[in-house]
Amino acid sequence: MIRIAELKLPLSAVEYHPENHTEYQPIAKLTALAAERLGIPASAIARLHVHKRSFDARKSALLAVYIADITLADPAQEAALLARFADQSHVTPTPDMAWKPVGAAPATLADSERPVVVGFGPCGIFAALVLAQMGFRPIVLERGKEVRERTKDTWRLWRQRELTPESNVQFGEGGAGTFSDGKLYSQIKDPRHLGRKVMTEFVQHGAPEEILYAAHPHIGTFKLVKVVEGIREEIIRLGGEIRFEQRVTDVQIDGEGAQRQLTALQVLNQATGESYALPTQHAVMALGHSSRDTFAMFYERGVAMEAKPFSIGFRIEHPQSIIDQARWGKDAGHPLLGAADYKLVHHAANGRAVYSFCMCPGGTVVAATSEPERVVTNGMSQYSRAERNANAGMVCAINPEDFPRDAKSFAWAFDGKTYGVEDLAEGQFHPLSGIVFQRQLESKAFLLGGRNYSAPGQLVGDFVAGTESREFGSVEPSYKPGIHLTNLHHALPAYAIEAMREALPAFGKKIRGYDMPDAVLTGVETRTSSPVKIGRGADFQSENTRGLYPAGEGASYAGGILSAGVDGVKVGEAVACAMLGLELPS
Ligand code: FAD
Repeated sequence: MIRIAELKLPLSAVEYHPENHTEYQPIAKLTALAAERLGIPASAIARLHVHKRSFDARKSALLAVYIADITLADPAQEAALLARFADQSHVTPTPDMAWKPVGAAPATLADSERPVVVGFGPCGIFAALVLAQMGFRPIVLERGKEVRERTKDTWRLWRQRELTPESNVQFGEGGAGTFSDGKLYSQIKDPRHLGRKVMTEFVQHGAPEEILYAAHPHIGTFKLVKVVEGIREEIIRLGGEIRFEQRVTDVQIDGEGAQRQLTALQVLNQATGESYALPTQHAVMALGHSSRDTFAMFYERGVAMEAKPFSIGFRIEHPQSIIDQARWGKDAGHPLLGAADYKLVHHAANGRAVYSFCMCPGGTVVAATSEPERVVTNGMSQYSRAERNANAGMVCAINPEDFPRDAKSFAWAFDGKTYGVEDLAEGQFHPLSGIVFQRQLESKAFLLGGRNYSAPGQLVGDFVAGTESREFGSVEPSYKPGIHLTNLHHALPAYAIEAMREALPAFGKKIRGYDMPDAVLTGVETRTSSPVKIGRGADFQSENTRGLYPAGEGASYAGGILSAGVDGVKVGEAVACAMLGLELPS
């Protein structure tokens, strides 16, 4: 097949039926365009398949831009045609994007040899799925509950201000992104097309087909829940086992130095209170960024890890119409375009970068804490993205230099333990110091919000002016269980507030109305990425502990659903290769 990029058609050429969200591809028009580009008659093209479709709003008339794969009526002509366009990057051979198993488990694989996957978020899901597809019958341990039960627990915080610490937005089947916008794109390098594997599995388990071709696909919360359940069933069908409410509380590591080898996991069955050892030589640790107790346990067991930068800030809410207007102009409101997103960045005079994070068009701001008496914000939406407001994190980048390094702060954050922070040499950063900082900010937000899981909030106009907000204006915020208006200057360090006050008017120049005085800020956003990096070698095993595979967002090898899924595929393959004595795929 031949892949042709940059095939452009006016928006009106795309047939869309809003009543059933169905988009019909303009195959005949694209075929004519492709034939013209290649200098061949349209009849020489036997089939055209749309690989990607995006929109280009830079011209006065909005364009639909396609990448298409064509099959020639006479496939023998393909090589000659490709040779004619060898110097053009827009005409290339279609790559083979199908995922191929790296090997197969021996039929004799004993129960005691089954690999373990800890965490059933996107990373753990895909590690377990590919291991199951290769016949390894993985055992999955997930601290939270299965997704339907978890949904009830999560809603209890949003509606009744009751947090379930082991079953919430961060913990449970599907992982952190289950109650999300379900954005499914990423900027990772993906030469092996593993992202396609992830997307194809999503579609096979109920996601809409359009996620395979839309440039910025998303599936929203409800559809994601069904997909997660479908993949769970597939893993079980293939011989895997998924144990919910099972928290890994310790790891047994035998040997010293280069001989350190994982030999067992200690697991707490949270439903019964029983604790048991699960012997294993291969455990994928797909923990997510909020498993602070497990990070601390790894630190105590000497697993190589370090503090890393992340970002802190607020959620910002605007009427979605402002964003649509700025992005789509006169085409705003066209059902095919849907609710528009944005991406903004500002480099402040104090050296800090402020940027938009995890933008949720037509969505809601959600309470995302996993710890009692702490407040954390994030955003989610449904597939339709039909809510009145756009929301996004507006966050400021921070570094380990910003994190606390005093014993008192550590003892406060870790129930009296200081993890040796008092012995740190000058210029060294404690691996757990980012967690201390997150906990400080989240606890302060709880206090500022009124100690009942309401989040502290402020109008943008008041935030820029530095005055407390007293009542909402034209923007009705969506955060549940509620917002307590205050002065958010107390919620974050002064450098972050200063950088954000500078960024807002600058963003207002890029998106007219972005700095509207009535827009609402809700705090705090602290879980933008993991506060630790759990390093691994080229074989995907921990830098200093064989058999332990740090993976996904928690270990800092992913950021987002798609990249976490891709990392899961890679780590699942790495486990299979280690068990079979094979080279890793290149
Ligand atoms: P996680 O999804 O965090 O999964 C880790 C799992 O491990 C959890 O289920 C946890 O319960 C379990 N676990 C942790 N410790 C243990 C233990 N000791 N024992 C057993 N189990 C354990 N990304 C996007 O790409 N698009 C979006 O639209 C998007 N929206 C988001 C909205 C919200 C509200 C949130 C919170 C996140 C959002 N994200 C989004 C980010 C995305 O969810 C994460 O990047 C992704 O889920 C990371 O996947 P993961 O598998 O590495 O970790």
